[in-house]
Amino acid sequence: MQPAVVQSVVVLGSTGSIGTSTLDVLARHPQRYSVFALTAGKRIAELAQQCRRYAPRFAVAATEQGAEELRQLLRGAELDTQVLCGVEGLCRVAADPEVDTVMAAIVGAAGLRPTLAAVEAGKKVLLANKESLVMAGPVFMRALNASGAQLLPIDSEHNAIFQCLPQPCGSLESVGVEKILLTASGGPFRTRVNDDLHRVTPDEACAHPNWSMGRKISVDSATMMNKGLEFIEACLLFGAGPEQIEVVVHPQSIVHSMVQYRDGSVLAQLGNPDMRTPIAHGLAFPERIDSGVAAMDLVALGRLDFEAPDMGRFPCLGLARDAMSAGGSAPTSLNAANEVAVEAFLRGQLAFTGIPAVIERVLERAEAVELTGLDAVETADCRARELALEVLGAV
Ligand code: NAD
Ligand code: MG
Repeated sequence: MQPAVVQSVVVLGSTGSIGTSTLDVLARHPQRYSVFALTAGKRIAELAQQCRRYAPRFAVAATEQGAEELRQLLRGAELDTQVLCGVEGLCRVAADPEVDTVMAAIVGAAGLRPTLAAVEAGKKVLLANKESLVMAGPVFMRALNASGAQLLPIDSEHNAIFQCLPQPCGSLESVGVEKILLTASGGPFRTRVNDDLHRVTPDEACAHPNWSMGRKISVDSATMMNKGLEFIEACLLFGAGPEQIEVVVHPQSIVHSMVQYRDGSVLAQLGNPDMRTPIAHGLAFPERIDSGVAAMDLVALGRLDFEAPDMGRFPCLGLARDAMSAGGSAPTSLNAANEVAVEAFLRGQLAFTGIPAVIERVLERAEAVELTGLDAVETADCRARELALEVLGAV
């Protein structure tokens, strides 16, 4: 069945791993979707290529310099693409009245304002950018409730949980949920002995066994902070208390997460580890469309394993759980300190094991305040970044 109206889509972070997977799915359904805007931080030549292929109404570069470079690259191409820049440009396209759907796939805190702009404008928001939700938790959720925007989780685990819950879903209690079982691959260092972890390199940390992703989230997967951020994300998205979420390590990344019900039933969503499945699910919900992902072959897989996470070797998970329990701006500080520490690790300025150490130090020193609004979020974020840089200077 063909939809009556073509959906107009903005892809924030279109040159990234999620962005390119999104464009791959959109390109399979030109009769359903049109690309309204594409945006990128740095890889401007790639953004120009995407503009030539998808002919969006707008393209946004993070800086004026990037926008100028893009205008040069598009000169001569017969396109009506208008080039904008900066956070204002991102927010402008995310909230445009002609837009139906916004894929939030910028990495890190840089995605907060444009994602919130889409939420406030009441769009259908496909949330990959988990950091924006983690850092602004209550502010983000209040904006969502006030605007009536539809938020669909793209993170594979949260998309799986969403699929295992009745829709629309009331409180977890009202639908008989006992627990959410959040699966984790365990990352590339799942079986590394502790003594080796301090000398692992950025390239080793980014070589994820199952998923191909951007470098920041790859490092987060290696430290298991990704699971920590996802733990907080799940509490916020599904209204779960920290005690209702259990992390289970599942090295094959085939079961993307599970929901355990009061009657003993456990519902799981399975699939090959390819983000085009949750992306296609979010784009078409409540319908189903082809995503380009190969069919899963259970017999070839043979087995699925599960084990408990090692909280000692991967302290980031415990730090995130504690930050969620502390509430207020603690998750904001956790996220900001993690972003600074991961960048330092990727630049070769911090050992892998220094990442949780820096975050722990920042959380000890950052005052936890109530998140009354976006200003409070941005103040807490800035303060934690300053503290993280101070701590880094001292190691
Ligand atoms: P990536 O690094 O591959 O891409 C990030 C995108 O954001 C790029 O288009 C980049 O140009 C843009 N960007 C970066 N800094 C920017 C800035 N300051 N201003 C504007 N744009 C900027 O990252 P990714 O792996 O695609 O991840 C994107 C988000 O999705 C992250 O929040 C990540 O946690 C989440 N996510 C990713 C995956 C995955 O499989 N890659 C899975 C689940 C969730
Ligand atoms: Mg995930």
